[in-house]
Amino acid sequence: TLTAVTEVIKYRKVVSKNKEQFQLVLSVSPFYAEGGGQVGDSGELVSEETGEKIYITDTKKENGLFVHFTNKLPLELKGTFVAQVDKTKRIDTENNHSATHLLHAALKQVLGSHVNQKGSLVNADILRFDISHFAKMTEEEVKQVEDIVNAKIRENIPLKEERNVPYQQALDSGVTALFGEKYGDFVRVITFEDQYSKELCGGTHVKATGQIGFFKIVSESAVAAGVRRIEAITGTRSAAVIREHFELVHHLKELMNNPKDFVSALGKIIDENGALKKEVEKSITEKSLALKSDLEAKIQQVGEINFLSTIVDLPSAEAVKTLAYAVKGAVNNLFLVIGAEFDGKPSLTVVISDELAKEKGLNASNIVRDLAKDIQGGGGGQPFFATAGGKNPAGLKGAIERAIDFLK
Ligand SMILES: [Zn+2]
Repeated sequence: TLTAVTEVIKYRKVVSKNKEQFQLVLSVSPFYAEGGGQVGDSGELVSEETGEKIYITDTKKENGLFVHFTNKLPLELKGTFVAQVDKTKRIDTENNHSATHLLHAALKQVLGSHVNQKGSLVNADILRFDISHFAKMTEEEVKQVEDIVNAKIRENIPLKEERNVPYQQALDSGVTALFGEKYGDFVRVITFEDQYSKELCGGTHVKATGQIGFFKIVSESAVAAGVRRIEAITGTRSAAVIREHFELVHHLKELMNNPKDFVSALGKIIDENGALKKEVEKSITEKSLALKSDLEAKIQQVGEINFLSTIVDLPSAEAVKTLAYAVKGAVNNLFLVIGAEFDGKPSLTVVISDELAKEKGLNASNIVRDLAKDIQGGGGGQPFFATAGGKNPAGLKGAIERAIDFLK
């Protein structure tokens, strides 16, 4: 049962990571405490005296006591409370937990008897199951495992739960015990079909496997040498994810005017796009290089320095860079400042010949940072090449005009 009338018999405040929390111990509790990979229950505690509702965020076991976590202490701690487990979360969690048992048995069938559980995590959203296995599961193996589990779900196998079974008797009956796990003298045995799945387990389970609905593996990966991690979804979550995927595919097909063969149609578009990108890049490079001779013609002699500060019309930072490097390669003792605007955003590029940077102490990075103040921006780079972006295109002209001051 997921409801109980109870009393608060102990409470304490705990502070961790600057967050205040309270822990309550109840006289009776319908909440499952975290254990065996299954998360603790959450739910409500309603005071029968005042009607006040407190949310229980988690339940854990501590020295044999069930500790209920809450962010707020009830105003009135005396009297009786109705404790109510969050039913939806519990059902979703149970679906995932029972599915791990069906999964474990299916994995042994498909991959071999060497498969052992190395760890598991079960909450309302997902189930995670780690196994000892030396290779990545093939697509075919994943499919086979899913098919077996879903067949067992459709068989609607009733849960058989045996409490207080002597440990040795449980082992003799062929139960799957986890290596390295400590068990008491008496154990709980969870069976879904005598010949299929029999495990020692303290968690909560579906009454019959049909409730799990639909099982889908969503990922299979390595966590350590010889350990694979399987993540899967069930029940309402798998239904939601399947719908999402259908909608996504439908949307994609619509975007492409419902081609007969979607994959090859998309492949064609990707190829075409790649070719077009190359074309565009080529024409931008050509445009940048065409500006090179314009710029060279405008260079003025300031002492022994070849100076130019100007605004160009180019579509991208990459294009300006191509131009800047082309001029730098052709002109000695160069101090070049280029202003440009991309999509309404101003940019500045400063280029200084390597020998100037060394001998005259001119530093492109410092200069661009200073000039960028005019365009309300910032940037940097190296002594011979630096760029800056800004927010104020109106300031670009002033920055270009005062660049010559660095030579004074
Ligand atoms: Zn279990």
